[in-house]
Amino acid sequence: MGIEAEGIVQKIAKDEGFTVFIPFSETYLLDQWGVDTVQVIINDGREISNSQRRKIFALISDITDWVKAPGNNKRTRAEKETLHEMGLLYMIECLPYTNYSDRDAIRKQLTMHYCQLVDIAPFSLSNIDVATATDFIDWLVEMCVVHGIPCLDTLLNRCEDAGRYVYACVAHRRCAICGKKADIHEVETVGMGNNRRTIHHLGQLVEPLCREHHAEVGNIGQAEFDAKYHLVGIRLDENLCDILKWKK
Ligand SMILES: [Zn+2]
Repeated sequence: MGIEAEGIVQKIAKDEGFTVFIPFSETYLLDQWGVDTVQVIINDGREISNSQRRKIFALISDITDWVKAPGNNKRTRAEKETLHEMGLLYMIECLPYTNYSDRDAIRKQLTMHYCQLVDIAPFSLSNIDVATATDFIDWLVEMCVVHGIPCLDTLLNRCEDAGRYVYACVAHRRCAICGKKADIHEVETVGMGNNRRTIHHLGQLVEPLCREHHAEVGNIGQAEFDAKYHLVGIRLDENLCDILKWKK
């Protein structure tokens, strides 16, 4: 067994072959192991990709840290109910007695819960299809948004469907960049006077941003800010107007 690495297809010589560049910093290993050929698996696009698998492991790792964080008794009732519903509250107590690592145990439990919710047979990360993996990732991302679970990386990099992620951030008033409590930043201001009670907001373009990131937009400008974070605002629909209590 060696190391699994992921490459980028660079040049395709039609009907002949292609070259792949594999970013790999430990090139001394190639000498050490005397490697002059590598095996390539050409993914047909239907199975989970390595990047999706990495996202799932990163999310599960952050969720595990949150589940196990000291001070569980200070959790809100809603959080406890969710944990209970997902079988995680019970898991916190039995984690020390399982044969799995904490992350594996929580991943299995969350997978089971997800499969029940969407009514599919339990899957393993080795054979899950792309569509299911995509939805599972975004479901985990939403869970982090809803509960404000601290993550090591911005969820913009972890989500599969950025629109779905930003939507959840608006609904739960979380900054789409850093996850802190957010205000709704109006990318396009509508009408005169800016009084939220009298203006219609349906279809308005917004971004959920914390104070710090809101200030950054002011400093560098909207276009540069969006490009820097690869953020695209979303347009308010009726549901979001209702949640925000903004006039439709
Ligand atoms: Zn922020």
